[in-house]
Amino acid sequence: MSSKEKYKNFIKQIPKEVTLIAVSKTKTAEEIMELYAEGHRDFGENYVQELISKYESLPKDIRWHFIGHLQTNKVKFITPFVHLIHSVDSLRLLQEINKQGEKINRSIDCLIQIYVGNEETKFGLNLDEVKDLILMFEEKKHSFAKIKGLMGMASNTDNEIQIKNEFNIIKDLFVSIGESKHCKMEFLSMGMSSDFNIAIQSGSNMIRVGSLIFGERNYIK
Ligand SMILES: *Cc1c(COP(=O)(O)O)cnc(C)c1O
Repeated sequence: MSSKEKYKNFIKQIPKEVTLIAVSKTKTAEEIMELYAEGHRDFGENYVQELISKYESLPKDIRWHFIGHLQTNKVKFITPFVHLIHSVDSLRLLQEINKQGEKINRSIDCLIQIYVGNEETKFGLNLDEVKDLILMFEEKKHSFAKIKGLMGMASNTDNEIQIKNEFNIIKDLFVSIGESKHCKMEFLSMGMSSDFNIAIQSGSNMIRVGSLIFGERNYIK
């Protein structure tokens, strides 16, 4: 099946209120354009250099979501055009996004990446760190970096109960933060190819799906 057919089959099962981010890392501009031709506009990328070259060569109405680990020294390259940064995992990064947004007078929407799984390699903040970050952020006035929600990943396991528990922890935090002076929880970004169904059941309204639509990624160039 082509990516276009996989996409058409996939999007049918997704509730209207859930935004599908098609994760296009390692995929070509041509593969992205197949979905674009079907009307899809939200694409997710993990690497700054790859995102920039795709941004430059593809239509400007694409909404680019940055979902990978972001180094502070690279923030300035994506702030002019990025639609939503899903992977904010420190106050320092948030402050840098604010600073770069201010320079170009553009608000940058951000999600805080929370870590709940049991794998050591994943980036993100734990529950208390997320709360602290939001409190610290609330104290100062940051007009350009906007906190719009949370992003999280469940452990890479077949244990659906564990996945569901992890998503529910993120969802509960999302609900409990709710709305405050400078931030309003709007987007809950949870769920990938292997667990998007469980994520949607747990209240996700943004899923990030790559291999189910584009096929397996081949990292060997
Ligand atoms: C690669 C990636 C995805 C998509 O993964 P699939 O399993 O291919 O759907 C989603 N979220 C993040 C943060 C990723 O890095």
